[in-house]
Amino acid sequence: MESYPNKNLMLTNAYIALAAWFSLVLLIVFPFVAPDYLPFIITVFLSLAVIHTVLAFMLKCPNCNKRPTVQGLSIHPDAEEAYKLNGWAAVIVRVAFDKQFRCIHCAKDYKL
Ligand SMILES: [Zn+2]
Repeated sequence: MESYPNKNLMLTNAYIALAAWFSLVLLIVFPFVAPDYLPFIITVFLSLAVIHTVLAFMLKCPNCNKRPTVQGLSIHPDAEEAYKLNGWAAVIVRVAFDKQFRCIHCAKDYKL
């Protein structure tokens, strides 16, 4: 398995995406428990989403030159599923929790 050259940026991208998903959960919960914090949570979510989007477009697969966490209409048939997720979301959780991933465009495996 080949090492991914931009390891730290890919890890940062994954952790930022996870934090954005977590803030999305808070957006669902906070209107009921602490509505005053809602503008802050929305700002945090939007900031994390923008950072994740920028990082996702910066990271490319060395094999196919496409972006492993940017998904179009279709993905490679051998793209993996992880933790009941697929596509770019599977890449995010595999990077964050397993330090490896499979490109959703060419199915090449990378370790971090
Ligand atoms: Zn690829």
